[in-house]
Amino acid sequence: KKRVYLFEEADGKNRLLFGGKGAGLADMTKAGLPVPPGFIITTEVCKEYYENGKKLPEGLMEEVLEAMKKLEEKTGKKFADPENPLLVSVRSGAPVSMPGMMDTILNLGLNDETVEGLAKRSNNERFAYDSYRRFIQMFGNVVLGIPHEKFEEILDHYKKEQGVKLDSELSADTLKKVVEAYKELVKKETGKDFPQNPYEQLEMAIRAVFDSWNNERAIIYRKLHNIPEDYGTAVNIVTMVFGNMGNDSGTGVAFTRNPSTGEKEFYGEYLTNAQGEDVVAGIRTPQPISKLAEEMPEVYKQLLEVRDLLEKYYRDVQDIEFTIEKGKLYMLQTRNAKRTARAAVKIAVDMVKEGLITKEEAILRVSPDQINQLLHAQIDPNAPKKVIAKGLPASPGAASGKVVFSSREAEKRGKEGEKVILVRPETTPDDIGGLAAAQGVLTSRGGMTSHAAVVARGMGKPAVVGCEAIKIDLNKEEFTVGDVVIKKDDIITIDGSTGEVILGEVPMIPPTLSEELKELLSWADEIRKIGVRANADTPEDAQKAFEYGAEGIGLARTEHMFLGNRLPLVQEMILAETEEDRRKALDKLLPVQREDFIGLFKAMQGKPVTIRLIDPPLHEFLPPLLDLTVEVELMKAKGITGKELEEKERLLSVVRRLHEFNPMLGFRGCRLGMVYPEIFEMQVRAIMEAAVAVAKEGLPVKPEIMIPLVALESEMKVLGDLIHRVAKQVIEESGVNIEYKVGTMIEVPRAALIADKLAGVAQFFSFGTNDLTQMTFAFSRDDAEGKFLGRYREKGYVEEDPFEHLDTEGVGELMKIAVQKGRSTRPDLKVGICGEHGGDPKSIEFCYIIGLDYVSCSPFRVPVARLAAAQATL
Ligand code: ADP
Ligand code: MG
Ligand code: MG
Repeated sequence: KKRVYLFEEADGKNRLLFGGKGAGLADMTKAGLPVPPGFIITTEVCKEYYENGKKLPEGLMEEVLEAMKKLEEKTGKKFADPENPLLVSVRSGAPVSMPGMMDTILNLGLNDETVEGLAKRSNNERFAYDSYRRFIQMFGNVVLGIPHEKFEEILDHYKKEQGVKLDSELSADTLKKVVEAYKELVKKETGKDFPQNPYEQLEMAIRAVFDSWNNERAIIYRKLHNIPEDYGTAVNIVTMVFGNMGNDSGTGVAFTRNPSTGEKEFYGEYLTNAQGEDVVAGIRTPQPISKLAEEMPEVYKQLLEVRDLLEKYYRDVQDIEFTIEKGKLYMLQTRNAKRTARAAVKIAVDMVKEGLITKEEAILRVSPDQINQLLHAQIDPNAPKKVIAKGLPASPGAASGKVVFSSREAEKRGKEGEKVILVRPETTPDDIGGLAAAQGVLTSRGGMTSHAAVVARGMGKPAVVGCEAIKIDLNKEEFTVGDVVIKKDDIITIDGSTGEVILGEVPMIPPTLSEELKELLSWADEIRKIGVRANADTPEDAQKAFEYGAEGIGLARTEHMFLGNRLPLVQEMILAETEEDRRKALDKLLPVQREDFIGLFKAMQGKPVTIRLIDPPLHEFLPPLLDLTVEVELMKAKGITGKELEEKERLLSVVRRLHEFNPMLGFRGCRLGMVYPEIFEMQVRAIMEAAVAVAKEGLPVKPEIMIPLVALESEMKVLGDLIHRVAKQVIEESGVNIEYKVGTMIEVPRAALIADKLAGVAQFFSFGTNDLTQMTFAFSRDDAEGKFLGRYREKGYVEEDPFEHLDTEGVGELMKIAVQKGRSTRPDLKVGICGEHGGDPKSIEFCYIIGLDYVSCSPFRVPVARLAAAQATL
């Protein structure tokens, strides 16, 4: 089996065998680019090395020496030759780039004799000893394990002695002293002389590179990035070229396009009279690559040609390393460049226009997560910041503002235009006003799907939740982290993309929906085969959703229209003791609901709007039992009597009556409509009257009325009849025909199992996967994370949070059953999903596979979903 390949022999497509660096060098060599001669020891040898208990396989060094002979022929130099020595670098190179994680050694082959030969040949003693001291330093550190700092100390000593700042200013004589001191250090640290035999050096270096595959940072890096442990690294042996031969030499790194903005401009830095890592090490400030056009115009021109060639070949932006030796350019590395979200989009779109890649490829080159990043304000990555705590990154984007501890205050001050961050132990539906008016929210409890998180994501508001490190004292209006105390009105910044809580204000970069992004998403629309709708409860949200490309509303939650100044009307309805009183209260709610729906219909301009009838238990609209009990007791203690007390007591008795031990499994959803049909009648009437009003203005309108929490066929039948009855009434009264649909949420496991029966009445299904997940697992969405689910994930009992990524095995199976059974009764049954999973790329793929017609997610996730839906089909 061949273990060693010259660059011209290796197949650049086989990164698994040759590693990324070797593959790039092979490609560039074959393309005729100026790559110094070299060869690759394959990743398979690395595997053998470990299988053999860290021994180089037999015969390897013979093969290596044969390849070295080829390098000698090509360069006219000889390894270990005191007259004209060949020097090489020994470089790591894994199949997946792990920048800086593994080791590389430069200038190998130098010893006390060859350094003299190098000096004579180059007529440059300073250069020769500079190379030698670099070699001892790198070899000493990487192979012999001597701390880097010990070498730096020596170097610093001589710089001070000579009164110079930079090592490029040290003379040949001083460098000779440095070399002597380095050798002494090696002797002291290892008890042995610095190895003088180049062949021995070579073998030791090869082993060291293999060993570096398993150094601690490399292992951690692989874990973080899911890189398989058994890939192994290749070793690249490359003839040295020297950027440290004087001012007509240098070394640099460059990107074929700007990796930060994506702009098509050559972008990079270089240093003259320098070697290897000097550019990134920050010892001297490098020059921008544009300066090279003045200093060495010929080389610059050549680099531009290389740039074009590489981009055409790889059809992607490249990150390159080069060295200039006495005015001659050499290429030392090329790889696909890492880039920001913004650059990723621009580059993908530009490359389609340049004919380099197809639209499909462009769509695959941008990750949904990158789209997400682009839709929210971001912290300027170059700004300094003091992070005081870290919570869960619940809703991306960053925000700064003054800390406030009550929703009411957030609402008031937010509306007055002040920037505030709402800090709460947790949030409830009552906090919605405060959330809406604040810049962002920080909670000490709750998980990724807690109320605060869901609502914040829906509003595109930054949120950090479950930040247990902060201790909130609501009475003192302050919170503490360790010994840092943050009082009301102190300014903090939260980063909902990372979960960081930062002291003070940090500069932001604004979100942009660039022309390129719009274009990329329009291609995604052409490609995808599953619709994208939005969950929106207000005309403003619907407007946003429409702008972001939603093809309809998949879920409008009517209960959100029952909050704020409508709350008294709702409470009146709940407190009513007779149906008559209840109808009176409902009559007052009807016109406001109608206005809400008119707003939604208009914003969506004729696209379907799915409206869900009221879902939560009624007591959510009343004060909590405990508060009320205390209030009544206080009134009594203060001697308050009469009407005031009576009313409070009546409220208390209603709250008591509605109180449930398990409200999520309680009197809610369609069960409300079964017991109080007048509530649903009012809502259906409001929807249909709104539709009529809009239609009368000559605008198209498509209402879809959805029943929540259905578990029984009887519920579907009774409520289906109710909806049709009221709808027909409104149509008759107005003389305007409205095409409407009746459908149901599938969010109770039983509903999925009797889907064929439900589809007899329902014209569409929408999976409410939040509840469906909750009820399939019997995991409470609000409590599970903190209590046990977090632990489960840590231990690997569950792979991921089922509220974040759809559980395809269990919940997904129920969905499959429902789709199949539903369509067996009604082949044209429309099926969608409106749970949080509708905005999750992984879940979207599953929805596509099982044949859903659309996904619905919060407006700010719509662009993400459009891309993810297209990727699912590719
Ligand atoms: P990394 O993977 O950490 O970037 P490299 O193997 O690319 O490590 O090498 C580190 C530095 O040394 C790079 O700047 C590279 O350009 C330079 N270098 C590597 N081999 C040679 C060589 N044969 N001649 C000159 N410079 C080299
Ligand atoms: Mg490199
Ligand atoms: Mg539900």
